[in-house]
Amino acid sequence: MAKVLCVLYDDPENGYPTSYARDDLPHIAHYPGGQTLPTPQGTDFTPGHLLGSVSGELGLRAFLESRGHTLVVTSDKDGENSAFDRELPDADVVISQPFWPAYLTPERLARAANLKLAITAGIGSDHVDLDSAIEHDVTVAEVTFCNSISVAEHVAMMILSLVRNYLPSNQRVLDGGWNIADCVARSYDLEGMHVGTVAAGRIGLAVLRRLKPFDVHLHYTDRHRLPAEVEEELGLTFHPTTADMVPACDVVTVNAPLHPETEGMFNDELLATMKRGAYLINTARAKICDRDAIVRALESGQLAGYAGDVWYPQPAPADHPWRTMPHHGMTPHISGSSLSAQARYAAGTREILESWLDGTPIRPEYLIVQGGKLAGTGAHSYSVAKDRK
Ligand code: NDP
Repeated sequence: MAKVLCVLYDDPENGYPTSYARDDLPHIAHYPGGQTLPTPQGTDFTPGHLLGSVSGELGLRAFLESRGHTLVVTSDKDGENSAFDRELPDADVVISQPFWPAYLTPERLARAANLKLAITAGIGSDHVDLDSAIEHDVTVAEVTFCNSISVAEHVAMMILSLVRNYLPSNQRVLDGGWNIADCVARSYDLEGMHVGTVAAGRIGLAVLRRLKPFDVHLHYTDRHRLPAEVEEELGLTFHPTTADMVPACDVVTVNAPLHPETEGMFNDELLATMKRGAYLINTARAKICDRDAIVRALESGQLAGYAGDVWYPQPAPADHPWRTMPHHGMTPHISGSSLSAQARYAAGTREILESWLDGTPIRPEYLIVQGGKLAGTGAHSYSVAKDRK
């Protein structure tokens, strides 16, 4: 029988909800491009309910316990004496979410003698040291596509809110004020701007599609070029590298995974090549940007705004400089954890667990590492420090 250790974020401060703002979720037939939504044999939760916090348990308890397995759920993930560290040595499966990541470091993986499967209930498995997972033959899987559109919507929202100076204007209303000049002195139209995405995968392409009706000039860079008909349909300008693309853009959105190629990409040198007053939106991973270089660029005016929902570490400490830097539109890590997304990644997590427990193959699109090497989506989109591909 397996022990499944699940790390989820805390319940709301006022307790687990007993009612919700809406009664149901829209039906989505399939993801863009045709990939099917998760197809578990069953679910034990109500779509639209809070599943990603501790009491939501991703809707997994009845399923696992009915098969005789053990489920341990905790939010206590950091520090040497955390519940996560205490429970890890005999866990067979670890489930974690990027929003509240249980960092599976080389040290932790070395102590997790039973660990065979690490599931990301979401997308982005950089909280797992993939080199060590390969070394210890731990399968790493994530619920590909589950929240890609959720994030793309968040990116579109953040671009508009920065360019139009929405958040400070809303704050003025909350403060009881009405100085229009103060609100509009940093407010522009997006129309006509050049917007570029670093990576045009599931999220990046969805961002491009959502921005197209705003009559902007669209740019992208990626390791693999999009089909010519997509470039033509959206009027895309391809750039072979990020360094080549960013000087042409008024707005840059980052939609690449964090891996050795992208870590620290937006540093002082790259930021200095951007247009003065450009906007940078990063909902991918914080470490793709140099934390202090972003603060310097906002303070000098090189960047007119920075927004995103990804931080390092998570949760961000109270004194993290991105909480107080000028002209930012940061949120906690929420874009991929809407109630809509939670229903999909809870179902996808169960699908992965069912496959693994039944000894049937996990969908290749969910795989990051398997059999001691990058696999499936991981082989396409990730790289590892040591060349074990
Ligand atoms: P995909 O795998 O669909 O797309 C990632 C894209 O990044 C691929 O097209 C890949 O290229 C490209 N890429 C990888 N390395 C580079 C590089 N060095 N330069 C340019 N492009 C690169 O993933 P998603 O779009 O679904 O997600 C992207 C990332 O967004 C995730 O890895 C995660 O970190 C983050 N994310 C954040 C969420 C949030 O809540 N804030 C939620 C979900 C995801 P190719 O495959 O062509 O080689």
